[in-house]
Amino acid sequence: MVKLAEWQGKSVFRKYGIPLPRGEVARSADEAESLVRSGRVPLPCVVKAQVLAGGRGKGGAVRFANTPEEARAAATAILGLEFKGENVREVLLEEKLAIGRELYLSLTLDRTQRLPLLIVSAHGGVEIESVADTEIDRQTVDPFPGLTNFEKRRVTKVFGLSGGPARSLDKLLDGLWQVFQGEDAELVEINPLATVGDGLVALDAKVVIEDDAAFRHPEYAEVRDDRTELEEIAREKDIAFVQLEGNIGVIANGAGLTMATLDVLKELGGAPGVFLDLGGTDDPKKVTEAFLLMARARPASVFLNIFGGVTRCDTVATGLVEAMRQVPPSEKFPLIARIRGNNEKEGIEILRSAGVTSVSDLRASAQAAVDAARGRS
Ligand code: GDP
Ligand code: MN
Repeated sequence: MVKLAEWQGKSVFRKYGIPLPRGEVARSADEAESLVRSGRVPLPCVVKAQVLAGGRGKGGAVRFANTPEEARAAATAILGLEFKGENVREVLLEEKLAIGRELYLSLTLDRTQRLPLLIVSAHGGVEIESVADTEIDRQTVDPFPGLTNFEKRRVTKVFGLSGGPARSLDKLLDGLWQVFQGEDAELVEINPLATVGDGLVALDAKVVIEDDAAFRHPEYAEVRDDRTELEEIAREKDIAFVQLEGNIGVIANGAGLTMATLDVLKELGGAPGVFLDLGGTDDPKKVTEAFLLMARARPASVFLNIFGGVTRCDTVATGLVEAMRQVPPSEKFPLIARIRGNNEKEGIEILRSAGVTSVSDLRASAQAAVDAARGRS
């Protein structure tokens, strides 16, 4: 998923003529202050953390400033934040508009109906998840004619708009539809869409580009997303590696077995923290590389659960033993192995000669991984 930061989403919006506040991005307090002093950002202004998580308004990550000094102070405070696990590296400074009503508007994909879905609510400015279902209007949109007048009229009615704001909405909906189609988005969200004077302004922007369409949009290749540093390295090496909240590392092969392994660990009271899917690797070097990456995530214990098919048990065992030789002593962790299937005997033997016992019972081996992790954290 390519999730754009607010300012990036807004620069896409600008291309399609969606009305926005005037604004600029700053990466330091100095830069923030000078944007205001030079008049590139008018006062009073809003200073907003550029993170992917929502709820910034409530979380102190959106502040207001009336003077260049206040803009500087707000930028300093926000740039020092760790917001929901993300370090804030950029702030968006925008003119503060006198807003009237706050509305909600988004276009997304309804994967069940296989159609774009237009979601609107007259109650914007709060997370849509907290709005009562009866206050949310949803309509699917036929992608071929695109957004038509009757759909737009329904939105106008839900918002309760007329006159200038209604005309502004009509144009804005066309723009939003064009963003959705033209950028291959899976989500475009404006929350809040605010009434300002006689028009509408998008105060926030959330744009998510469909991964499968990435090849059509090389311009997004450099956009940071929510991958961790290790996940990024893994991606470059073509290793399926995901970091979660817990402390147990899981190495398995195939999505099904990997998911089932996570479930078993969870059921036994463990907290899987990293998982690595070896897939159909038949190269011990690849296994070594993957395992060393796992070590860098500092798991409290690692559960290796392999069903040998294309990925032969002896390949995995060989790669693993080599990796264990390379892991520095300070990064060692208990390893619980369960390898079954193709070349099982050879694999077990290779592990045994390196001091690792393979336990064939799933429950028993998973329990051992959970216990080992508990002993260490
Ligand atoms: P989020 O909480 O992360 O979704 O951040 P938003 O961009 O939606 O901003 C949160 C809230 O800040 C909005 O709902 C508005 O109430 C307020 N806000 C943002 N920009 C302006 C502005 O230009 N003028 C005023 N008055 N309020 C603003
Ligand atoms: Mn918002």
